Amino acid sequence: MRSISLLLLLVFFCCACNRKTESKEFKAKSDSLIKTEIEAFIQNYQWQDIDRRDHPFIASTNEEMDRLRAAWEGNDAKHGILATRFTRADKAMSDTLYFPPEGGQHNQWYQCADCQIALETIDAHHHKCPECEKIYSGFPYDNVLYSRRHSRNFSVAEDAAWAWAVTGELEVC
Ligand SMILES: [Zn+2]
Repeated sequence: MRSISLLLLLVFFCCACNRKTESKEFKAKSDSLIKTEIEAFIQNYQWQDIDRRDHPFIASTNEEMDRLRAAWEGNDAKHGILATRFTRADKAMSDTLYFPPEGGQHNQWYQCADCQIALETIDAHHHKCPECEKIYSGFPYDNVLYSRRHSRNFSVAEDAAWAWAVTGELEVC
C-alpha cells in the first residue's frame, strides 16, 4: 500500500511537471508578435530589397562556399558532380517552365483502391491500374504528378542558385 501511494505521488509529480512544461512550450504567439518577429528577421537579414536584386539566393556558410568553389576549380569527380547539377540548371532555364495549377499530393495516393498496386500514368489526367485497368482521374491522382513537378521545379531552382553562387555566372555550361 505504501509503495502504491509512493507511485501515485510520483505520477502526480511528473504530470504536474509536464503540464508546466507544455504550457510554456506551446504558448501561442499573438499576430502582432509574429508580425514584429518577421519584420525584425527581414531587417536583420536585409531582405527588404530582395525583389530588386537580380540573382538567386541560397543559404550557405563561407566554409561551404570555399569548398564548393575549390571543387569547381578542380578537375576531378567533385567538379563532375557540380557540372552535372549546373548543366541540369542550364537546361531547365532553356526549357519552358511549367507550374502545376494546384498543390501536390503524396505518392501514397497513386495506387488502385481495389488492387492496392501502383498506377501507371497515361497522361497528366489519366492514371491506369495495370491489374484491373480501372482509370483514375482528378484529385488526388493528378496532384501526385503535380507534386513531382513542384519537386523538380524546386530542385532545378536550387541547382541554379548553387551554380550562380559557385561560379558567379547565370549560365554555366
Ligand atoms: Zn486495380
